[in-house]
Order: sequence, then C-alpha cells, then structure tokens
Amino acid sequence: MANQNNNQNNDNNNNFFNNNPLLAFAIFSIIIIMIFKSFVGEGESLGGMMNTQSVSQTKQVKYSEIKKQIEQGTITSVKLTPTTVEAIADDNGRKIRYVAQNVPTYDKDLIPLLEKKKITYEGVMGGGFLSELLSMMLPILIFFGIWIFLAKKMSKGMGGGILGAGKADKLINSEKPDTKFSDVQGVEEAKDEVKEIVDFLKFPERYMELGAKIPKGLLLVGPPGTGKTLLAKAVAGEASVPFFSVSGSGFIEMFVGVGASRVRDLFAQAKKEAPSIIFIDEIDAIGKSRASGGQMGGNDEREQTLNQLLAEMDGFGTDTPVIVLAATNRPEILDAALLRAGRFDRQVLVDKPDFDGRLAILKVHAKGVKLSSKVDLTIVAKQTAGLAGADLANIINEAALLAGRFNKKEIEQEDLLEAIERSFVGLEKKNRKISEVEKRIVAYHESGHALMAELTKGATRVTKVSIIPRGLGALGYTLHLPDDEDRFLKQKHELMAEIDVLLGGRAAEEVFIGEISTGAGNDLDRATAILKDMVSVYGMSDIAGLMVLKRTENSFLGGGMASTDYSEKMSEDIDNHIKTTLNERYAFVKKTLNEYHQAIENMAAVLLDVEVIEGTKVRSIIAEYEKENHMESRLAHGDKIAKAEAFAKEQAEKNQEDNEEG
Ligand code: ADP
Ligand code: ZN
Repeated sequence: MANQNNNQNNDNNNNFFNNNPLLAFAIFSIIIIMIFKSFVGEGESLGGMMNTQSVSQTKQVKYSEIKKQIEQGTITSVKLTPTTVEAIADDNGRKIRYVAQNVPTYDKDLIPLLEKKKITYEGVMGGGFLSELLSMMLPILIFFGIWIFLAKKMSKGMGGGILGAGKADKLINSEKPDTKFSDVQGVEEAKDEVKEIVDFLKFPERYMELGAKIPKGLLLVGPPGTGKTLLAKAVAGEASVPFFSVSGSGFIEMFVGVGASRVRDLFAQAKKEAPSIIFIDEIDAIGKSRASGGQMGGNDEREQTLNQLLAEMDGFGTDTPVIVLAATNRPEILDAALLRAGRFDRQVLVDKPDFDGRLAILKVHAKGVKLSSKVDLTIVAKQTAGLAGADLANIINEAALLAGRFNKKEIEQEDLLEAIERSFVGLEKKNRKISEVEKRIVAYHESGHALMAELTKGATRVTKVSIIPRGLGALGYTLHLPDDEDRFLKQKHELMAEIDVLLGGRAAEEVFIGEISTGAGNDLDRATAILKDMVSVYGMSDIAGLMVLKRTENSFLGGGMASTDYSEKMSEDIDNHIKTTLNERYAFVKKTLNEYHQAIENMAAVLLDVEVIEGTKVRSIIAEYEKENHMESRLAHGDKIAKAEAFAKEQAEKNQEDNEEG
C-alpha cells in the first residue's frame, strides 16, 4: 500500500547494463567463451583432448609416473601444454588417461624419449590451463548471472536495483509528490501536528534565525492503511520539497552489510537536497528493541543499520532542514534509543477514521470515479465503521469494477453495498456448490443467530443473512453492520448479548437439526473469549472482582502479549465460571429458539429458497409470528432503528448544508 511510487526512482543515469543485466551477462559470457576458444584453438573441445570419446578413465598422477609408463611402452599418445602432460595408455583396449599437473615441461629428455618410443605427441598452446581456467570461471559466471537476475527481481518490489549495492541511490525512492493535505482525510489531529513542519520546510531561515528547535524526527503511529505514507507525502507536497522514502524491511532483507551504508547514502542525498523529507516506512523492521530481538543472526545487520540511523539523526543539527518521518503500527516494540530526544521524540497517532472521517475519505476517492447522482455516501460511511482509509479507497474501486462488469455508465448504490460486503466477508463464491444437507444446517444456524440478534437488547440488529458461501471457510453469515454512531465502549449487557447471539447458531443446529456440526466452532471460540475478557480484563465478574488478571498492551493496535499472573485456584475458578455461564446462556438461548420455533422454521425456509434475506425481512418474519401467536413483541431494536434513521437524516441534512456552503 505504501509503495505506490516505487518505480519513480531517481535513476536518471540510465545505465545500459543496469537496465539489461541479463543481456549484459549473456554478452559478457559469449565474449569470454570466444576469447578462450580462440586461445584453445581449432579441434580442441572445451576441457578435453584428443580421443576424449574413447577414454574410459582419467587418473591424476605424478609426472614421474607418466614418464615411467612411457618408458615401459604402455603409453600411445601424449599431449603437452605449458603446465600439464596428458598421456593416453592402452590397457587391453581400455584407454586410460593420465594427467600430471604443473609438470616441468621443460624436461628436455621428454621429446627425445617420445620420439624414441614412437609415441605420437602434440603440444597445445595453453590448452589444459585455459580450459581449466574456463571451467573454474563458468560456475562463477553462472552465479554472477543468477545474482543479477535475482537482484533485478528483488528490486522490482523495492524501487531500484542493487547493482553496486553500496550505492543506495537506486533503492531510495525520491520524488516530488503533489499530494496535498486535502487528499488526506479523517486524521485531523495528525494533520494539525504535522502542519508546523511544512512551515519549517518552507521557511527554514525564519526558524533558524530564532534559534527554534524543530523536531528532527516524527513517528507516525497507527494501524495499516490509515494514511501514514499519504500524510508524509502530503507534508512534502505542501512544502514542495523532495520526498525520500525507504521501507524498513527493505534495509534488512537485501544483502548483509549494505543496510548501514544505505542509511548513510539516504541521509547524504536528503541533506544535499535539503530542505527535504525522509520517510521510513515500517521502521520497526530496523528499530525493533534490541532486548526483544530474540533470534540470532540477521540481528547484527539490523543493529548496524539501526546504529547508523541513530548516528545520522544525531549527526545533523537543527540547522539542516531535513525532517525524518517514520511509520509503524507497532510502536511498543521500538528500541527506546529511537524515541530519545533529538530522534523520534514526537509521536503522532494516525488512527482509523470515524464516521465524518470516513465520509470525507470516501468523497476524496469518489472524485476519481463516476458516481451516480443518486448515490448517498453517508450510507457507505455508516456501514464501514472500523475500516481504514485504504479499505475505503478499495471499496470505491471495487464498486467501479463491479459497475464496469455490468456495463453500467455510473456506479450505483448497490455496487457500493456489494463492495462493502466483499471487504467485510470476502468474495462471494456463487460457484461453490454446497450439498443440500449442508445448506439446511447453515440456514438454521444463521437463522438462530439472526433471531437472537433481533430479540436481545444490546445486540446489533441484523443487516443481512446469507447462506451463500463466502471467503475462506465461512459457509454462511449473518451480517450485523453498526447502525449507530461509532462505538468505542461496550456495556456489560452488550457483551452478554453478543454471547447470546453467538450461541444462537449452535443452539439452532441442536434444536432443529438434532445434531451439532463443526460449523459453530468459531462462534464458541469467540463467546469464550468475550467471557474471559469480561472476567480478566474488564472486571465484570464476581470471580476476580476489579482485579485485572490479564494485561494487554496496546490494545488499540490489536497487538500485545498477555501475561497471566494469578493463582491456580483463580484459574480454576475462572474456568468454572466461564463454563457455567456459557451453559446458562445456552439453556436460555435454546429456550428462546423453542419459543420461536415456527419463526425459525419460516426464516430457514425463506433462506433455503432465496439464499439471502435482508434484516427487514428477518424482523417482519419475527413480528408476524408474534402477532399470529398473540405474543408481546420481544423485538429489541425498535427504538434503535428509529434512532438510526433520524441520525441518517440529520447527517444528510448536515451534508447538504456543507455542500451549499462550499
Ligand atoms: P499506511 O501508510 O498508513 O499503511 P497508506 O498511506 O499507504 O497507509 O494508504 C494507502 C492508500 O489508502 C492511500 O494511498 C490512499 O489512497 C488511501 N488512504 C489511506 N488513508 C487515507 C486517508 N486518511 N485519506 C485518504 N486516503 C487514504
Ligand atoms: Zn455462527
């Protein structure tokens, strides 16, 4: 995602051999082979000698051995080169070749001896030596060729070549982006934080005269795809300064020993063209804490690279208008040395966008495509809570592809909806045939989820239920899209509601199919995890009370290690608590499904018929059933639906105002 402009490197010394390494290698090898051939001379095969075909054995021997054999008359022919003597012996029709290396061919007795014994002999100008040299060179040439080939291949993903590995200019991306702050949306605080850098890069003298200390390094922290690279580019674009970018993993993955020199070159270039921006993506690849490293080997390389980076950052003063921006989604693993004053002492959070942010990002990306005037992007923004900017850009693109496939002139709302679903649940696999038995199981399973979601206070209402297999492994799904503003907190009853909904699938299989399948494994896993967290992280049980039993580090980025530091007894209590609670909830869910027996049957029947039903259909099936049986309605989301609709209307009005203003 971050490597969009990889091929725009500053490679303008258009070197023929760098651009055509394979061709260069081929030419090079042919020339070498031709030179050797002409030396070796006519009739000389590579590395061979006369009678090569019939020789059944070659023996390396001492010269004295050959001479002895000549005197004994077993030798039939001899070949002399400046450094070797090769003799063919006839052993009852079997030809054996004796070769003596580095022999004193100036032995002046040899020729008369050969004459005397009437042995045919010939002298070859350097034959043995050269062919040997060639046979030594060949593997080297092949290796060289493979190396160039691989280097070229690797460089494709890295933005340059590695010919002349010490010189980094091919790996470092340099460009003058025209990205502007208006292209980056939904990260307003981060934008505010980096704005002053732009001013500094534009008017460095002002700040230097005042003796102001401008940060040298700034760390952009946030989940993947939130626009860290884009923001860094926008800083360069706004200030119209060169943007040098490298990826942290690119430093390490190449060849040992080049990381440090690459850092040196990167800074040298940036300083030469100051004011400028250096952007290091995935800095965790080099900046991993030395303590957390763990494995041996490769570590040295990383450490050298890291040390060079630290040295470079310390090396230039605040009078050099070069600013280093680095990005990571794992700040917790960075070496403390990187975060010290004068290095990356400022951290800027680039988080996932909220509703307004998502809407703004969608608008940015909608500019590049043809949207129908009927499309309401607020709906898209509302249904994409939890997605990052890159996902949203992707949804717009996916919708355009879908519209194109159906030969439409404009993208319509339904294309966007389909694109959202795809990004949430993976590609629809219409082609995949599932058996009727499986389909029935899935239909009841999903109906169970859907019923519980609609009847439970605190659960998220159903948007859509489908039994068309999607993505990897999921045979069906019940889609719950948040219909409210973004939620950052969950109350206890909402967590419990989630558990009931999760158990609905398995309970339905038991009640309606009479047997349990493996399809509920993931649901049970999630239900268990929620209960565990309630006990050990959120202090929501009597077992542990307010005591936190599990420390999660950095939960907003989803990473972190859990350490357990409690007694065996506590661990047992927790297990029992989770088991009892799950059993209790399961019994309740089963009871509910039985009370709504016919409603589930109806829902499953419709699902088996049409495969996909909307949330409204789910609710009407339930409501109808309740009416028929004169039950008081237990539908839980009546007020919520009204609220969501009011919210959507309000947003739409607000948007219209915005549009009228601007
Ligand atoms: P990161 O570096 O945080 O992984 P990128 O900057 O590489 O994310 O984002 C990839 C692409 O996604 C961007 O080029 C842009 O098209 C889109 N994108 C991501 N975040 C945003 C945002 N906040 N505003 C607009 N577009 C965004
Ligand atoms: Zn399920």
